[in-house]
Amino acid sequence: MIRPQDLLCPRPEGLYCPPGDFYIDPVRPVPRAVITHGHSDHARAGHGAVLATRETLDIMAERYGQGFTAAAQAAAYGEIVDRDGVQVRLAPAGHVLGSAQAVVAWRGLTIAVSGDYKRRRDPTCPAFEPVACDVFVTEATFGLPVFRHPDDGGEIGRLLRSVAQFPERSHLVGAYALGKAQRVIRLIREAGWDRPIYVHGALERLNRLYEAHGVALGPLLPATTTQKTNFAGEIVIGPPSALADRWGRRFPDPVLAFASGWMGVRARARQRGVELPLVISDHADWDELTATAAEISPSELWITHGREEALVRWAELNGLSARALALVGYEDEDDA
Ligand SMILES: [Zn+2]
Ligand SMILES: [Zn+2]
Repeated sequence: MIRPQDLLCPRPEGLYCPPGDFYIDPVRPVPRAVITHGHSDHARAGHGAVLATRETLDIMAERYGQGFTAAAQAAAYGEIVDRDGVQVRLAPAGHVLGSAQAVVAWRGLTIAVSGDYKRRRDPTCPAFEPVACDVFVTEATFGLPVFRHPDDGGEIGRLLRSVAQFPERSHLVGAYALGKAQRVIRLIREAGWDRPIYVHGALERLNRLYEAHGVALGPLLPATTTQKTNFAGEIVIGPPSALADRWGRRFPDPVLAFASGWMGVRARARQRGVELPLVISDHADWDELTATAAEISPSELWITHGREEALVRWAELNGLSARALALVGYEDEDDA
């Protein structure tokens, strides 16, 4: 009888699969890696071999250069890849373009590693696919009952109403460069805004990559403050770090907005000087985490990077066996 920990076990480098001799999202360079998605805490450069979706490989090449690994192997969602007798399959995670759960099966045992995920619709990537498994490894970034993300259409509506209300001011929206920025742009388009959207230079290459993978973003212009326009009545999107620096300060009297799951916490918005917090998250909130665990109903729930304790308790109360995996090195401050 094989135990789940014979198939996947936590190591300092990340989750390790002994029979397949590979790591999932290792935080240090390893000979063989399976990468769930392109965020930098999950996708690092320097692995011997990398298995990921085509989109994730393209994102890694964009961020780290073509030489980010000695051997890149692309797998489509649903395709089964053999690693020394372990079957590896990538299933959509609904987090960002190319994001996947890593599903590993061996001798009748199946473990699904969610990576980062969310359950609500995202116009930039396919929806999360619940996978039948013995062990479900879930993230828990927003693993507390206080985290309940509102409808993203409503949040974009608040942004557009503010733009209409303050036509003499620019609206500066902080959004993480991979995933959040493109999703926010798509949501703004779906809300009917077809004017150019101004973007910080740090977003340009990833915007182009998204468009190359079929995510249309509409007219985008560089948000260079040397231009004659004063950006009154315009929407400008930049990475969170740029808002507070010299780039952000050059815009005259901007309304500072920030799109993040953390904007549900008032103190965080205040701390960053955000006037218009937009609670738009690429991670599952409490209800999505618990609904997903209940839907998949695995024999064991393993909980990683985030607030594990509350979800472990919830699982116990709901008859699910659960444990917290102590994995280090995953930070979801900005990509949340
Ligand atoms: Zn992520
Ligand atoms: Zn993460």
